[in-house]
Amino acid sequence: MKKLMAANWKMFKTRDEAVTTARKLVELVSGKLPDDREVLVFPPSTCLHGVAEVFESAEGFSAGGQNFYPASEGAFTGELSPEMLKDSGAKYGLTGHSERRHILRETDDFVGDKTTFGLKKGLRIVLCVGETLDERKGNKVEEALERQMRQGLKDVPTETAPEDISIAYEPVWAIGTGEVAGPKEIEEAHAFVRKTLISYFGEKASDIRILYGGSVKPANCGEIIALDNVDGVLVGGASLDGESFSEIVLAD
Ligand code: PEP
Repeated sequence: MKKLMAANWKMFKTRDEAVTTARKLVELVSGKLPDDREVLVFPPSTCLHGVAEVFESAEGFSAGGQNFYPASEGAFTGELSPEMLKDSGAKYGLTGHSERRHILRETDDFVGDKTTFGLKKGLRIVLCVGETLDERKGNKVEEALERQMRQGLKDVPTETAPEDISIAYEPVWAIGTGEVAGPKEIEEAHAFVRKTLISYFGEKASDIRILYGGSVKPANCGEIIALDNVDGVLVGGASLDGESFSEIVLAD
C-alpha cells in the first residue's frame, strides 16, 4: 500500500500561484519520491486544471477536487459535478472535511451521498472524519467517528477497491490550530477507524488507507507517519509552500 501524502490548499492561491507551487513541488520531490509514496494536491477548483497539467508528466503525483455536488448536471448554482472535476484533471475528490461540515453545514447524510456518488463517477474519495473538542472532552470520540463513518459510507458498495477510498482522521480541534494530536490519540483513533472499516468491508479493509490530518508540519510528519495504521497525511497550512510540503512528502 502506498502512503498518500495529501495537500489541501483550501481557498488559497490564484492560478499562477498554484501552478508555480505545483512546479516547485515536482522539482523538489521528483527523483526522490520513494516507491511506496504518492502525492496528492487538492487545489481550489479554479486552479485544478493548471495543477493537473503540471502533474501529468510527474510520476506519482495527482490532483483532486476539494468539493463537488452529488449530481451529474442540473440547476445547482455554484456547484460542480464529479464529471466536471475529472474533466479538469482530478483523480480524487474530498468529502466530509470539517470546514464543510461546520462552516458550510454539510450533514453526515449529505457527506455519504457525495462519497457514494463521487466513487460511482470514478473519483477516488478521501472521506474526512473527526471529533470536536467537546466530543473528545465528553469521551465521545468513537461515537463521533462511528457515526460519521456509518453515514459517510452508508451506500458505498462493499466491492469498492481499497485504493479508491481513504479515510482521513482529522480531529476538528487540531485543524489549523497548531495543536497536534499525540501519538497515543492518533493510534487509538486510527485503530478504531480500521476496526470500523473491517466491519464494513471485511479483510480488504487492511488495504484501505487511513490518513492523519491536523497541524502536520515538516518537523512532526516523520513521527506521525511511522505510527501504527497511519497510511499518509492530509495537510492544510504547511502544504501551501512548495518547500515545506516537499519536506513533508519526503519525511522519514
Ligand atoms: C486540513 O485542512 O485538512 C488540515 C489538516 O489543515 P492544517 O494542516 O492546517 O491543520
